[in-house]
Amino acid sequence: MQSHGAPPYRVITARSAGGDLIDVALAPDDGGRMRVTAIGSTTAGAYRERHLDLSDHVLLPPAADPHAHLDKALSWEDLTPAVGDLDAAIECWRRGVDVFDETDFHRRARAAALLVLTRGTTAVRTHVDVLAGDDPYRGIRAIDRVRRELASVMAIEIVALPLPGTPSEVVLGALDAGADLVGGAPHIAEDPATEVAHLIRLAESRGVGVDLHTDEFLIGDHMTIGTFAELVAGWPADRTRTAGHCCRSSTMEPEELSQTVKALRTSGISVVTLPITNLYLQDRVTCFPLRSAPVQLTSPQSVHHPEGRS
Ligand SMILES: [Zn+2]
Repeated sequence: MQSHGAPPYRVITARSAGGDLIDVALAPDDGGRMRVTAIGSTTAGAYRERHLDLSDHVLLPPAADPHAHLDKALSWEDLTPAVGDLDAAIECWRRGVDVFDETDFHRRARAAALLVLTRGTTAVRTHVDVLAGDDPYRGIRAIDRVRRELASVMAIEIVALPLPGTPSEVVLGALDAGADLVGGAPHIAEDPATEVAHLIRLAESRGVGVDLHTDEFLIGDHMTIGTFAELVAGWPADRTRTAGHCCRSSTMEPEELSQTVKALRTSGISVVTLPITNLYLQDRVTCFPLRSAPVQLTSPQSVHHPEGRS
């Protein structure tokens, strides 16, 4: 829309979703990124050459992806996974990840970020594995580089994703390497509740938030969502606490589900459901169609709930 080298537009005139004609005023922030400063009726004429007239188009806010895995994106051709479930996908990644060096991580993550950017997503929170072996942070470093390269057009937040049993100092090192939040998948640990408490303690030791893969299974009693809610209930209001997936809640009895919704609301946990992923990766036979989080967890009246792709 804007020719290369031209000064950025200062006013866009377009239709709102309701059909009204609106002017969106823009100005650069301290980092040079153009920000919306006002929406309404403006003096568009004052910016004659920097005015973009889209009055026959509808202008929508950009999308944000709250749960991506940019380190795993576009790896299908390298790993050629068999069609399978979540366990098979995790196993395939673990077996194949050693083939990727930092350059590979950067190439795939940058391509994936640009792909979603061209479709209107301007903010991405991505989980990135803390890898086994001598260089556990090559994925995080690569995506931190992508973040810096695309900073003027996209916001990227990195969640360190360690396997259960990863030493504390290695998880904390991921924050030093560029991760913003502590992640994890406690439901695959031998003692899920202890793993949740451990990850939350690590986050608290650095004053950062958490975004945990939470109860990504359908049948079983090793749920962690209650423990998670209890442990973060006293956190400062502005510290991130997010539970992703929450599939097990779809097979809860109504009373237990109702208690869970209450606990989530009290604790301030945001739930990110991932229906596209879980309808594919969870049991396609015995639990159909209960594979993603239920509507009680995705109702804005109940719990804050962005929806992601994974
Ligand atoms: Zn995930």
